[in-house]
Amino acid sequence: MTRIIATALVLALAAPAIARAQDSLTVVRGTPPTDLAPAEHFTGTVRVGNRFQAEAPARIYGATATFEPGARTYWHVHTLGQTLIVTAGTGRVQHWGGPVQEIHSGDVVLIPPGAKHWHGASPDAPMTHVALVENPEDGPSTEWMEEVTGDQYTARRQRPAPAPADSASEDDRPSRAQQLMGDIAPRLADLTDDVLYGQVWASPELSQRDRSLVTVSALIAMNRPDQLRSHLARARANGVTQQELIEMITHLAFYAGWPNAVTAISVAREVFQEN
Ligand code: MN
Repeated sequence: MTRIIATALVLALAAPAIARAQDSLTVVRGTPPTDLAPAEHFTGTVRVGNRFQAEAPARIYGATATFEPGARTYWHVHTLGQTLIVTAGTGRVQHWGGPVQEIHSGDVVLIPPGAKHWHGASPDAPMTHVALVENPEDGPSTEWMEEVTGDQYTARRQRPAPAPADSASEDDRPSRAQQLMGDIAPRLADLTDDVLYGQVWASPELSQRDRSLVTVSALIAMNRPDQLRSHLARARANGVTQQELIEMITHLAFYAGWPNAVTAISVAREVFQEN
């Protein structure tokens, strides 16, 4: 029944658009992106061109944007989401709380409605994308927020972070768990790889960053410096800043005990120096 109502509703909404005859189509001729994007919403040099706007009742509009190396948007939200089609170069994109991800020519990025995010070039290469946005019935399509800091921009792991003592590695070599205990406790090593990292850590209900915050908190509270060392490195790779980790340890001093916090600080000092 619900399904019938939903189908009827879709047809009712679609009907006017179908009935409306179009007598021509529009070709927007390709032009190099030459307009400078506004400095109050972008860091570095970003050029925009080839703007287009569909005719109502369609809501889609867009443009091509080229980001010089290091250039990026400020944090922002699109009311109805955004689709990015990368047409050249190498860039970066991040959802608030998620990891910084590298994007390449040919990639398509789907940004959900209301999701706080940024996009831009990589530090060493430019990136060009076509950006597609839809205009809401009322209100703006985009809400601009604060600048993406240098720390946030470079949080992407530059080289593989040291694998946590209990984690699986991403290549074909035996995982850390297999190396540590595979000879004597193969089932525990398999459970660590398949269940802990393959299912729990991989599940999308919490971001990798949030899972790092939870795990690091627990390891500090339990005073486990060995595992804390590898999980602090993983937390950095998952986008948690040094400043945030120090604040977290300070906060936990009141809940987990001052000695645990002091131990955690000395482990953090080592990890920050190595990374
Ligand atoms: Mn965007």
